[in-house]
Amino acid sequence: MLRELRDYSRMAAGIVGMQRAVYPSDAVKFVRDGLDKREEAFLQTAEKVIFQNPNHPYLHMFRLAGCEFQDFAGQVRSDGLERTLLRFYEGGIYLTHDEWKGKTPIVRSGVEIPSRVEDFRNPLTEGWLQNSSSGSTGKPIRSSRSTAALIHAAAYHGLRALEFGDPGCVWIDVKGILPSPSGLNSVLRGRRCGTPIDRWFTAGSAFADHGHYLLLTRAMVTIGNCFGAGAPYPEYLPYNDFLPVAEYVARRRAEGRTCVIHGFASPLVRIAAAALEKGLDISHAIFMCGGEALSPAKRKVFESAGARAFSSYVISEVGNVGAACSQMAGSCVHLFEDAIAAIGIRRPGVDDDDPEMRSLHFTTLAPYAPNVFINVEMDDDGIIGPAPCDCIYARSGFRRQIDRINSFAKANPQGATFHRNDLVDVIEQILPLRLGGSPGDYQLMECEAANGQTQVRLLVSPRAGVGDTARVREVFLTVMRPRWNGAVATREWIFSEGVEVVIAEPIATRTGKVHPVRLLSAYSRTEATNGR
Ligand SMILES: [Zn+2]
Repeated sequence: MLRELRDYSRMAAGIVGMQRAVYPSDAVKFVRDGLDKREEAFLQTAEKVIFQNPNHPYLHMFRLAGCEFQDFAGQVRSDGLERTLLRFYEGGIYLTHDEWKGKTPIVRSGVEIPSRVEDFRNPLTEGWLQNSSSGSTGKPIRSSRSTAALIHAAAYHGLRALEFGDPGCVWIDVKGILPSPSGLNSVLRGRRCGTPIDRWFTAGSAFADHGHYLLLTRAMVTIGNCFGAGAPYPEYLPYNDFLPVAEYVARRRAEGRTCVIHGFASPLVRIAAAALEKGLDISHAIFMCGGEALSPAKRKVFESAGARAFSSYVISEVGNVGAACSQMAGSCVHLFEDAIAAIGIRRPGVDDDDPEMRSLHFTTLAPYAPNVFINVEMDDDGIIGPAPCDCIYARSGFRRQIDRINSFAKANPQGATFHRNDLVDVIEQILPLRLGGSPGDYQLMECEAANGQTQVRLLVSPRAGVGDTARVREVFLTVMRPRWNGAVATREWIFSEGVEVVIAEPIATRTGKVHPVRLLSAYSRTEATNGR
């Protein structure tokens, strides 16, 4: 409680600072300048944070690889950043996702390197807009963004407005309230970016459970508005009903206005599906989808409604990774190389049915990145290559793209993120203990319904003898509740709709293995490979 009080006092002060801050008047120039300075910015941060800290885990890795700062800087300047990062990776300078989170020890050249999650936080920046992701044993890992980082994100939003917006377009957010920070950030910066947010819709929430977040969100918007933000307050949608958004978009369409709607992919699909069902005209609407892969099934629903959909790619611990331009389809984005460097490392699939993947490893470059990362694996794969388009992003200097982005070890239903390894404990140990049966009797499958919704199906073998599926569902949701990203109320609400319990034998892979958790990405990658 005290911690929350302190966090939200800082947030209030941060909001005032954001309204007084100077925003980039020319987003293109802002990112071009950043691209020119990316290598020097990275070297300066690495020198201060890693090479001047004798206990830093990365310094141990560099020493074991026989690399001092002068070698490091010389290589970056002569060979370029990405080539040097690949060489560092081969020399053992990287972190797997589990190593970063402290779930597995970091061992290089037979030496164990002591490390904690906090060691990788950026000490040069003080953030105030907090986000959290699930950590080991479900304890959330917090990362926060500073005013400088938010101004940088506003420049990216400026590029998006140039690429997609026209002066008459209507910006709509379908995002959660606090403790999720994304909706609040978006509405508060809208007017300053020249894209005032017209409406902020959010999935309903029970006041009894989450009342203080409703009040806090309202208070933070009010503070921003006192300093000129001109932001809308969140409007709560009826339970499990996205029709009001579809109706609003259709009304604006009838006035000849184009709507740009931003949110997680699954809820946005529901808006397009509601329009289709009720015969509403939302043609020309643009849906900006984050949080989940924009799969072919989801895209089909948007296109059937006459709308278009594009991806954005954000990892809260890394920052804004990229965004799609109007010429990109599916899970493809321009890589924001002014603040991030990414390399793809070939590795075998996680699942037996899963083909080889190109695991993305990220390096943060900006002095205000939430963490100082060199080659950190975030358990996403994708194909990095030149962007063949001519768009505002390419003209600003973002000439590379990541295509076919997919999480290989995380389930992303409705924009929530669950790490496979955290789910394995639930499926193999906790459920058999509470409900009966043994490990192997339960299997969690991430899957996609025909309407494009990402869902979770829990298979329970008849051997477990649980009988009542309603009780299994209740126990599963109770166990999962503390593992939600920082207990985000609205996501919990949406996600619980998408859990289905089926009494059936768990499904084996081609080699006969039964994995406790099977993710959507494993199938989609298999299909993509087989279809090639
Ligand atoms: Zn482009």
